[in-house]
Amino acid sequence: MQHRGVTVWLTGLSGAGKTTICQALEQELQTLGCKLEVLDGDVVRENLSKGLTFSQEDRDINVRRIGFVAHLLSRNGVIVLVSAISPYRAVRDEVRQQIGDFLEVHVSTPLSVCEQRDVKGLYQRARSGEIKGFTGIDDPYEAPLAPEVTCPTHEDTVAESVQKIIQALVAAGYLELAIA
Ligand code: ADP
Repeated sequence: MQHRGVTVWLTGLSGAGKTTICQALEQELQTLGCKLEVLDGDVVRENLSKGLTFSQEDRDINVRRIGFVAHLLSRNGVIVLVSAISPYRAVRDEVRQQIGDFLEVHVSTPLSVCEQRDVKGLYQRARSGEIKGFTGIDDPYEAPLAPEVTCPTHEDTVAESVQKIIQALVAAGYLELAIA
């Protein structure tokens, strides 16, 4: 099995399933022997982007920082899995241009399903007005126009989403699976 460096960028609403898919994908790629790294939006906000707010300006800075690190790694042969809401199309496209080897995955779970899951209880807090500027509630989510992969997790299982992404990596020439 061989692979080239690439950034796999999962974007979608909070609770859409980005982290869940990323973790399963990480396991699968590890089993295949890939060199990889994970940049999780929540983790990045605890260190590299600590102190940033959720204003448009700070969200853009956060995405550019993630993109910068992802670029360094993927140009050195690492498969980088990014999971970040990254709600604005323009800065996602900017990062795509910068990185070059880039696969955009839209985790396209509808707001109603994400809100019903409410994994972290954030939608409830956003609806009650306790959190302002929450993506999908009172801040926009701009869906990708031409993502390489779409994962509607209200229809696809985690395993199906992982396989879709693996197939896209193979189709784009980033991953070569040994034929058993
Ligand atoms: P995000 O990282 O996008 O905020 P999470 O992965 O943290 O989302 O949360 C998604 C939640 O949805 C998890 O509790 C997960 O178990 C659940 N879930 C249910 N079905 C699916 C599916 N088919 N794919 C991904 N997640 C799913």
